This record gives sequence, structure tokens and C-alpha cells, in this order.
Amino acid sequence: ESTRELLLSRIRDIPDYPKPGVLFKDITPLLADPAAFAALTDTLAELCVRHGATKVVGLEARGFILAAPVAVRAGLGFVPVRKAGKLPGATLSQAYELEYGTAEIEIHAGDLSADDRIMVIDDVLATGGTAEASLELIRRAGAEVAGVAVLMELGFLDGRARLEQGLADAPLEAL
Ligand code: 5GP
Repeated sequence: ESTRELLLSRIRDIPDYPKPGVLFKDITPLLADPAAFAALTDTLAELCVRHGATKVVGLEARGFILAAPVAVRAGLGFVPVRKAGKLPGATLSQAYELEYGTAEIEIHAGDLSADDRIMVIDDVLATGGTAEASLELIRRAGAEVAGVAVLMELGFLDGRARLEQGLADAPLEAL
């Protein structure tokens, strides 16, 4: 069984969640399977090393679950990007468009430096709004973007196009 097949087999489709008409990709079966979770962590850690990352940014909340073990595995620091109002220190904030309304995410400005190359990790790339805003935060914090790595890219939403500018020449890796 290839890693890709193993990972795919542990992702569950939940119809009409969180609202009617949406088919939600549930990764909790993957997290509950130690071989699949380890394979995912190892694969993402390899990508971080290959692309020369110095730190891993995880996007709240499922991105934290993936990015934290990846950071440890790759020997890198972990930096959280959180929903507005959750970080206690001095933050940079970035608002972005949702289907209805706007959202805002934050990062501790002091966690990144000009010497850092950041790999952004999340479970799912959907419209790309969250990842795009995180790339803007990284740029504003003065760090370089090493890439974005996700377990799944929902291709029909074309988040990849939305990230084009923020990524510049950095890769979007979707397992
Ligand atoms: P975007 O900003 O790309 O539209 O949405 C991405 C965010 O929403 C990610 O943080 C991701 O966790 C969450 N998300 C959107 N759709 C799904 C889905 O089908 N499954 C999971 N697990 N997360 C999703």
C-alpha cells in the first residue's frame, strides 16, 4: 500500500457538514491510526527539510495537530496562526474574505525573524483564503515563505490560484 493510498483510505466523507450541500473531509480516522498519522507526519517533515524550512506554521485548529509533530520530526520550531483574540502577545492581524463575511487571523510578530523560511501546514486547502492570509502574515513579519503543505487540496475550489501571488515561486504541496 502506498502512503497516498493509506492516507486516502483513512479520510472519511461526511455529507451535509457543516451545512447542507457540503461534503466534509474528516481526518479523524487518519489521526486515530498510528501508522497513517506517522506516515503523514514523516511525509510532511521530509517536505519541510527538502524545501529548506526553518520553522513550521500551523493553522488553527486542525493545522496544529499536523504541524506540531512535523516540527518535532523535522527539528524545526512551531509557530501557531490563530483566530483573532487568542494570542496573548503583540500580534500581526490579517482579515480575509469568507463566502459570507470576513475572518481574521493572527500571529505573534516576535515568533518569526528575517532569517526564517516558513512552511505553512494545514489539513485541507479549500478556497485558499486562510492560507493566503497566513502567507501575508509571514511576509509582513519579515520572513520568507518556504511553501504551503496540505494533506488535501479540494481542486474544484481552486485555492491554488488564490495562493499564486503569496507563494511567488514557493511550492504548494498537496499529498
Ligand atoms: P479555506 O480558507 O481554504 O477556504 O478553508 C480552509 C480551512 O477550512 C482549513 O483550515 C480547513 O481545516 C477547513 N476546511 C474546509 N473544508 C474542509 C473539509 O472538507 N475538511 C476539513 N477537515 N477541513 C476543511
